[in-house]
Amino acid sequence: NRVLRLAARPKGMVQDSDFDLREEPRPELTKEGQVLVRNLYLSVDPTQRGWIERDSYLPAVAIGEVMRSFGAGRVVASNDPDFAPGDLVSGMVGWQDHVVLPTKGGGRPTKLPPGVPLTNALSILGLTGLTAYFGLLDIGRPKEGETVVVSGAAGATGMAVGQIAKLKGCRVVGIAGGKDKCDWITGELGFDAAIDYKAEDVAKRLEETCPKRIDIYFDNVGGDILDAALLHLAMRGRVVLCGAISGYNDASALKGPKNYLSLLVQRGRMEGFIILDYFDRVGEAFQELGAWFQAGKLKDRVDVVDGLENAPAALRRLFTGKNTGKQLLKIAEG
Ligand code: NDP
Repeated sequence: NRVLRLAARPKGMVQDSDFDLREEPRPELTKEGQVLVRNLYLSVDPTQRGWIERDSYLPAVAIGEVMRSFGAGRVVASNDPDFAPGDLVSGMVGWQDHVVLPTKGGGRPTKLPPGVPLTNALSILGLTGLTAYFGLLDIGRPKEGETVVVSGAAGATGMAVGQIAKLKGCRVVGIAGGKDKCDWITGELGFDAAIDYKAEDVAKRLEETCPKRIDIYFDNVGGDILDAALLHLAMRGRVVLCGAISGYNDASALKGPKNYLSLLVQRGRMEGFIILDYFDRVGEAFQELGAWFQAGKLKDRVDVVDGLENAPAALRRLFTGKNTGKQLLKIAEG
């Protein structure tokens, strides 16, 4: 049973040496109301960088603790009649081959719906799909015909935001790094326009691609791109503060928005949210996301790295823009 424990608080980009890979005895069920899960896929998320540095919406992972991670696997033993060996579940499973989870209370796993591939259940029909759904619809509140701009547009959350905005009748512009990503979101996903922030002047391109200015800016990256979007906000524009990945490796270097007075001039609103607060409403999201997905109206893309030992490398991919779509780590065959 392989386990990756946090060995050191990272400075800058995470290093392999920030974690200890150990062989440990396989955990066992010790009391009623537990399941033993064989982890199959781990979700690789930018927020994990924050979890190993400081307390925020969750307490920091302690040195020596198993690295916290969302993921999915198969139940191999259960002493709760609601879970049977063979069931596929998702939850906070950690960077490890097996995990024992309580079947009641906060840390309980969620049974995955039958017929949904595990990879999609961790992507467009998982946490990042839900983040896009509630962030856009609940915080952004789009109306038909409005202009939506999303950064990190070829990533897990961004690809979902843009597609959902299109399904709601909006004009959608995505900001992403590189021509391939830009071609993919406009070609495959149906975004109206794309801006390659690594090669183009974002402020100028926002003016060109959003002639009626920006009604909703869904921010995944923060920094200069947020500033450029603020300057081009429409009257009563909304900024959905989902994340600021440009500052995760060095919070002190994160540029705060200089152009926040746009919110005043345009009577705008900027609001953050954490998807954990929406767990009592996942049913309504799954109904709509699932129907779009089954009908082929909502596409998914996953980017899979193999092997538990490559977990730190998989995490680094998010910060160098190597991933297109949802970054996953496969650690065992289903
Ligand atoms: P992604 O799949 O979008 O991967 C991260 C992407 O960020 C990379 O592919 C890269 O794309 C881009 N990126 C990395 N560094 C920079 C940079 N310096 N400037 C601009 N872009 C950069 O990850 P997720 O979809 O999982 O997460 C996206 C955002 O959503 C993150 O900020 C995350 O923290 C946030 N989030 C928030 C949640 C909430 O509850 N509020 C829940 C889930 C996610 P590129 O090649 O285009 O640079």
